[in-house]
Amino acid sequence: MAIEFQTKAPMDVRWNPEQPIEDVEEMGKPDTPPELVEEISELRRGFGKDLVLLGHHYQRDDVVRFADKRGDSLALSQYAASMQDAKFVIFLGVHFMAETADMLTDPDVPVILPDMRAGCTMADMAEIDDIEEAWEKLSELMDTETLTPITYINSTAEVKEFVGRHGGTICTSSNAKKIIRWAMEQGERIMFFPDQHLGRNTSYELGIPLEKMIVWNWQEEDELGGNTSDDIRNSRVILWHGHCSVHQHFTPAHVEHWRNTNPDVNVIVHPECSFEVVQKADYNGSTSAIINTILDAAPGTKWAVGTENHLVQRIGNEVREQGKEVFSLAPYACLCSTMFRISPWALRDSLKALQEGKFRFRITVDEETRKWSNIALERMFEITAKGNGS
Ligand code: SF4
Repeated sequence: MAIEFQTKAPMDVRWNPEQPIEDVEEMGKPDTPPELVEEISELRRGFGKDLVLLGHHYQRDDVVRFADKRGDSLALSQYAASMQDAKFVIFLGVHFMAETADMLTDPDVPVILPDMRAGCTMADMAEIDDIEEAWEKLSELMDTETLTPITYINSTAEVKEFVGRHGGTICTSSNAKKIIRWAMEQGERIMFFPDQHLGRNTSYELGIPLEKMIVWNWQEEDELGGNTSDDIRNSRVILWHGHCSVHQHFTPAHVEHWRNTNPDVNVIVHPECSFEVVQKADYNGSTSAIINTILDAAPGTKWAVGTENHLVQRIGNEVREQGKEVFSLAPYACLCSTMFRISPWALRDSLKALQEGKFRFRITVDEETRKWSNIALERMFEITAKGNGS
């Protein structure tokens, strides 16, 4: 198939909450019409190995069913990079995930995000301009050579570039402990973007007391993100004021509810949940850790899970036959509403556009950003390969 490439999307194309919803009526329907399933399958078959379709664990069922591979954002990006025959990648996830895939794959391989409204509220809480401003203010109080910046992979390419330029690195929820331990050995303190909860929960597990952690609130109008200069000098961890809009829904009251009504339920949560929730839970861990813990659990066990609802439902369906029961920790569905914007119709339209040699919608990371982000990622791979504890 001959593909005519469009010019690259300009770098300032980010996820766009204003993108018109062309298929608003269709999106409300509970089931994908069979003819749409057939149309998507037919289009996908036409690309063969030229196309890699990546589906994040939190993606809705009617979309993730079309994925060649399911996983977390880094594993999926690495998978795409390993597919030597691939000419195109479609990421059924959110904007920063498609950026990571673009950073790791060959620059000539276009990475497509089917709906430009699929952003991440957490990543958007760490704007590069706010970070640069905070760093500048901190440089007046301390030698920033002694401050190691770490960003969670759930952040924009510009933030990854920033940490790469400043001697820092990136972490995932699986390797956060190793990365923060490494960062603490580099200097006097660390600055952690954008998820305050992952930063706090992990630092605490490493033995850093809460009183040594402060939050830099970029929304505060004062000079120091809501802190005094003494607060900052006394700190070991500066947490960015960011969170995941999905995981923040889980509360200590939800854990207490399960303890009171069903004491044999195990509570397992993602470390993007608040400190109070993680402290009350029986287990906490990354998405993969949650999946593996439940898959490996004994038959007859019950699990209340504090993470995105599509994943919770899918694990529940998978282990039901083994006599295990899985519930959402909260009494209502906590779903990633931005990722949910990737509908089967949007996927169909991206595939159709690709068939016509057009990109709907291509995510590109410019060369300079890619260079420094990849330096930060390489640093992360080196640290995790050294195996300095879990
Ligand atoms: S679940 Fe939270 S952190 Fe993950 S993509 Fe959605 S908003 Fe972002």
